[in-house]
Amino acid sequence: MGRLTEIAPGVLVATSTYAMTTSTVVVGSSGGCLLVDPAVTVADLAALAGELADRGLRPAAAWSTHPHWDHVLWSAALGGAPRYAAPAAVTLLATERGAMLEQLGQSAPGHDLELVGRMQALEGTAIPWDGPDARLIVHDGHAPGHGAVFLPDSGVLLAGDMCSDIEIPLLDTEEKDPLGDYRTGVERLASVPGVRQVVPGHGHIGDSGELRRRLGLDTAYLDAMSAGRPYQDPRLTADSPEWMRDMHESQVRYFQA
Ligand SMILES: [Zn+2]
Repeated sequence: MGRLTEIAPGVLVATSTYAMTTSTVVVGSSGGCLLVDPAVTVADLAALAGELADRGLRPAAAWSTHPHWDHVLWSAALGGAPRYAAPAAVTLLATERGAMLEQLGQSAPGHDLELVGRMQALEGTAIPWDGPDARLIVHDGHAPGHGAVFLPDSGVLLAGDMCSDIEIPLLDTEEKDPLGDYRTGVERLASVPGVRQVVPGHGHIGDSGELRRRLGLDTAYLDAMSAGRPYQDPRLTADSPEWMRDMHESQVRYFQA
């Protein structure tokens, strides 16, 4: 786990060596902070809790951007703050809990399973907490109840598992309209005014130009897939992990069917 780095006033990001997964901390008032997607390994969470303590911070609220195992983790050392996710995400966490815990056990074993995925459904357009405005952009692209967070004071967009520089669009082909859902997500993110930095769930932080570049790449990928055209996404390379190459192949097959 890399150390927490301040990318904008009061916004800190740590990046795990596991799939370049990002964890974000937003500093609030009197030592409270908002913690988004703390991840990924047991050691990562221990390091994160230690760094927060060193900085005199404690989570006052937490948000999970979407109901996948690597975005719904927690440890006792992070305390008892309310943990929120979008309603559709909370529903999926309940119905898919068994499969999710199995994936977690294979990929990042050793977590306290009682704490995994214990979110409460949050209706509304902002995270209720005593700190900088944290607006929610909820859609069903990538996963049901995918909720990006925009911090208007600092211009930081926490994009969840979209807008990555190292991942192709990963569609939830279990849902009825994965393409439409993903396009809606891209449109919503593209229309957020005042983004100065984007923090993807996996990958590098980018500026506003980089956000536009990634959204363009995502759209080009979706256009090619839906038209059944062969397409070489620059983010899919010989160095890409096997699971992503497999996902790409299965998305090609999905649209050919
Ligand atoms: Zn995901």
